[in-house]
Amino acid sequence: MEKSKKTHNIDALLEFDRKHIWHPYTSMNSPLPAFLAKEAKGTRIVLADGRELIDGMASWWAVIHGYNHPCLNAAIETQLSKMAHVMFGGLTHEGAVLLAQKLISITPDSLQHIFFCDSGSVAVEVAMKMAVQFWAAQKINRRRFVTVRSGYHGDTHGAMSVCDPVNGMHSLFQGAIVSQYFAPAPPSGFSNPFSPNDITPLAELVTQHKDDIAGIILEPIVQGAGGMRFYSPVYLAAVRDLCDEFGILLLADEIATGFGRTGKLFACEHAAIEPDICCLGKAITGGYMSFAATLTTARVAQTISSGTPSELMHGPTFMANPLACAVSLASIDLLLESDWQKNIARIESGLWQGLLPCADFSGVADVRVLGAIGVVEMRFAVDVAALQAFFVECGVWVRPFGRLIYVMPPYCISDSELALLCSAIVSAVRERIGEQK
Ligand code: PMP
Repeated sequence: MEKSKKTHNIDALLEFDRKHIWHPYTSMNSPLPAFLAKEAKGTRIVLADGRELIDGMASWWAVIHGYNHPCLNAAIETQLSKMAHVMFGGLTHEGAVLLAQKLISITPDSLQHIFFCDSGSVAVEVAMKMAVQFWAAQKINRRRFVTVRSGYHGDTHGAMSVCDPVNGMHSLFQGAIVSQYFAPAPPSGFSNPFSPNDITPLAELVTQHKDDIAGIILEPIVQGAGGMRFYSPVYLAAVRDLCDEFGILLLADEIATGFGRTGKLFACEHAAIEPDICCLGKAITGGYMSFAATLTTARVAQTISSGTPSELMHGPTFMANPLACAVSLASIDLLLESDWQKNIARIESGLWQGLLPCADFSGVADVRVLGAIGVVEMRFAVDVAALQAFFVECGVWVRPFGRLIYVMPPYCISDSELALLCSAIVSAVRERIGEQK
């Protein structure tokens, strides 16, 4: 049968895409299949062929209020009619000031100074530069970082240097990235009892290299792309104590965890600690565009500024982009005006209820849920392309990686959508991979 013009067009777009465009972590020779998205609204992604998918990914933690949100659209449109962009060197604008005030007011009290940047990875670069400059200003040469295994902080060189050395493929970039100090990953489990021995390897590493270390960088409570692991708030509090004991800085990468995802506005709150430097990104704009921020304390900012040079050495072209500031403000207001804690608790219980049946299968190593994050960890790596196609057939958008099938849906997902999302995962485990050896 002759193909319709529409189908031809879809095929042509996908064909060009496959031949010429890199997608995240894909090969140009044998790319994983991509689906053509046409539009998205609320919790639904609509494919070009008309299929509608319930979104389980929030476009990688970012789209917390759902797609095409009228308030967020309006914020961007209003700002667009005034100015889409203006350089931040020598100029400022109301949106940047209001957003800075808002972020400073909702993050831990000690964070008082802010640097707006383009993406999460850049926010991490800026955080690491702040830490190095903090010491350089005191004429102390501390340029390296301690972190924990299974972490992920982004794909630029500095960020990559503190990603898990195996997952992060350090061997490929050996010589091109600085080598850092790695302690074992924190023991798994948010609620598992903490033993003081758990922190010993990290404490020993810090003791051994104390004169060389600018700070400890980690993702608080949830390690995302490095394994979707949850760990104890007591461990995080012990890391804060360790930093205080040795007088080094604590850098918290809240890029994935920020804005309510773990059940607290910021994951550091689970441990009642305040970092010296904090990175925010992803959900900051409600997932509308790439944007991030690095915040720090008056002590760090003033120390850097008393050095030579006194300037913080970073200044991206699109710093504090007005559209991004406007949509971030609107997104944060939407979140704070909602009963978001109750809503995250609702999603958490829906995820537990929906995903727990997966635990009955021998191929499943673990099922875990924290806040609006649900994870089914398999014993073996899954076939991403096959499983993703299965999920699309089921009408849901879930993108597994490695041994992990995980979801972090938009917060506006309904109970029935959540049940459908989870039942698609249970079906995948039951019908496709549950008994895999
Ligand atoms: N840190 C964490 C914890 C992340 O999850 C990510 C993105 N997956 C990044 C940093 C990097 O952010 P971006 O992709 O915006 O550069």
